[in-house]
Amino acid sequence: MLNRFFLVFLLILSLLFVQVAHAAEVVVYSARIEQLIKPMFDAFTEETGIKVKYTTDNEGALLARLQAEGKNTSADMLITVDAGNLWAAEQAGLLKPVKSEVLAHNIPMHLRDPNDQWFGLSVRARTLVYNPKKVKVSDLSTYEDLADVKWRNRLCLRSSKKVYNQSLVAMMIAEHGETETERIVKGWVSNLATDPLPDDTKALEYVAAGKCDVTLVNTYYFGRLMSKDPNLPLAVFWPNQQGSGVHVNISGVGITKYGRNEKAAIRLLEFLSSAKAQNLFADLNMEYPANPSIKPDAFVASWGDFKQNPMNLSKAGELQTTAVKLMDRAGYK
Ligand code: FE
Repeated sequence: MLNRFFLVFLLILSLLFVQVAHAAEVVVYSARIEQLIKPMFDAFTEETGIKVKYTTDNEGALLARLQAEGKNTSADMLITVDAGNLWAAEQAGLLKPVKSEVLAHNIPMHLRDPNDQWFGLSVRARTLVYNPKKVKVSDLSTYEDLADVKWRNRLCLRSSKKVYNQSLVAMMIAEHGETETERIVKGWVSNLATDPLPDDTKALEYVAAGKCDVTLVNTYYFGRLMSKDPNLPLAVFWPNQQGSGVHVNISGVGITKYGRNEKAAIRLLEFLSSAKAQNLFADLNMEYPANPSIKPDAFVASWGDFKQNPMNLSKAGELQTTAVKLMDRAGYK
């Protein structure tokens, strides 16, 4: 009899244990590739004992999957790039707000959602890169100035189909209004030395090869190219330093609305914003830590300090459709 009670007791105990063990994990859907996330997850597991399971795919596929899975999703956290994508996930009702003093302290206001549904964890700067053999630094000043006739046949741009340029133009609309932004974008288009290029790396290669003199790219593409060939005639310029600052975007995180491990997921999110994880998160992709108390990697720091545009990145999402239509009207392909 005693034995039977003991067995039942053991059974209940093991069921409880299984439940606790099940709770001690976080499931992540990530548009950032494995090499860029695994080191932080390993550090988190080591510190907390909480396991992190992850699936990586492109952002479109992950959003579609979250939407299709609805309440049955196993995902607790979404990691993706560009505020435009995080904003879209919020609009689709896939995320939930997180009130956290740690996050409010670690992540500057402009890099997180005003409704607390997403948080930037690394900063990507979309800036000017020029060929120092062909451009005098004193001729460079702002994004807007690239519309000036002095840049005729000297500008290369990545296609307007990529969210990076859509976000840049959306932020310009927020700052200047539609009419003025359309004038600027039309000016860019008339200054193009070649049709818009498929990616940032191509645009940099064109500048290095002398096919154009200046372009607009995220600095980590510059970093990747320069670490392969440090002698390329390419240099970074930080525009709008007297005015609104450099256009930045984020790679960031939201907690899913229907995830089952909310507590552990918030703990992971807070960990990712902390000093311990910020360098891992940013340095692996040559980005800037979102947490302003953390210094970037030395190679990245060697490109110089700059002032970021402090406007809240939710504008990039809100005005994305307007930006796409505007670029179309301006003939920016
Ligand atoms: Fe990129």
